Amino acid sequence: MSVYESLGVMTIVNAVGPATRLGGTLMEPEVLAAMAEAAGAFVKMDELQEAAGRLIARITGAESGYVTAGAAAAMALATAACMTGTDPTKINRLPDSRGMRNQVVIQRAHRYDYDHAIRSVGATLVEVGFPDLTFAYDLEAAITDETAAVAYYPVRSRPALSLRTVVNIAHRHGVPVIVDAALEIPPAENLRWYPEQGADLVAFSGGKAIRGPQASGFLCGRADLIRAVALHNLDMDVRPETWTYRAMIDAGELVGPPYHGIGRSMKVGKEEIVGLLVALRRYVERDHDAERAGWLAKLAFVRDALAGIDGVAVTVVDEPATGMAVPYALVQLDERMLLITAYQLLNRLQDSDPPIYLSEEPAWRGAVAVNPMTLRDGDEALIARRVADILRSARPERIPDAPRRHRER
Ligand SMILES: *Cc1c(COP(=O)(O)O)cnc(C)c1O
Repeated sequence: MSVYESLGVMTIVNAVGPATRLGGTLMEPEVLAAMAEAAGAFVKMDELQEAAGRLIARITGAESGYVTAGAAAAMALATAACMTGTDPTKINRLPDSRGMRNQVVIQRAHRYDYDHAIRSVGATLVEVGFPDLTFAYDLEAAITDETAAVAYYPVRSRPALSLRTVVNIAHRHGVPVIVDAALEIPPAENLRWYPEQGADLVAFSGGKAIRGPQASGFLCGRADLIRAVALHNLDMDVRPETWTYRAMIDAGELVGPPYHGIGRSMKVGKEEIVGLLVALRRYVERDHDAERAGWLAKLAFVRDALAGIDGVAVTVVDEPATGMAVPYALVQLDERMLLITAYQLLNRLQDSDPPIYLSEEPAWRGAVAVNPMTLRDGDEALIARRVADILRSARPERIPDAPRRHRER
């Protein structure tokens, strides 16, 4: 009996991609083996994080790096580091950030569901520009003595100030720029591109395309800010007399160690750190063209298998020139002809055995999508057969007449 069976939990087919709500991604056997090995010995965690920092620096070209419990935790820690620096009296006070630089400027075009991570450590967002446009003077005027950082979330569909422009303006005012690049891989080149643009801290997710542990991510960037991240995140059950960084106290750089910081509730274990590092090393050495060809083959299979059904048009969307790194299959339904809506199809698939999850992002316009990143071999055949069965047997269910919400992303 599998571990999931013994818990009464069904395993599913995931055609949504590395979505946290569906278990993220699957790790390669080499990563799992490294994690199992890491679990068999004790290490000093600050020493392990320093080794991680050196490897992340080598791969990203940044000064330093730090493994976190996901990219959202990375953004929270990055914000905290920009507010407090390495000052233990400030580190101890968070999330009460009164009396310190505690504003994070963000373009309205960059507001998104993960910016809660920025606010969670006590920062206040200051929005500039319009939802689809920012001028440089908007950003310029919003940076004050209260500004801890400028946050940048790359959104290709909404024109906003380029990262280079944001970095230039922020740095002119001595303010760091933190970037949420969780979704920016692939392509692998982005691991180096974001630090190269001058971003001070860049967050990546370990549990998406890199195929590391689901609860892992990392920061790369300026060494002094990474040191502040460590002070927020490390377990501080220490005395100044024996602490790893006691030389900083002797040198007058710190008044003493902080207590457990706000990042202590985002702790990352030795197994995740090692798993992330092995996955990251494997990711940069992977044959990305071959991986992409495998994705396209699975999508073509789904397209061809559904080709004969009236009222369905499947397109493989593959536009690398537009910056779209992962191709997908768009399954467009003629809902009135088929007597089933995209949402009803999604629910029928989720209720089947095994449950199948397709992307619901285009469902508002009567389509569903297949993301190939998380398909195991054979999943494409299962998906095509089940979708065909449901569409061919669709009975006149009530089609809601409610006006469709317009949504573009
Ligand atoms: C997935 C994602 C995150 C969160 O990443 P985790 O590693 O799951 O914490 C943050 N920001 C964006 C844009 C994401 O897509």
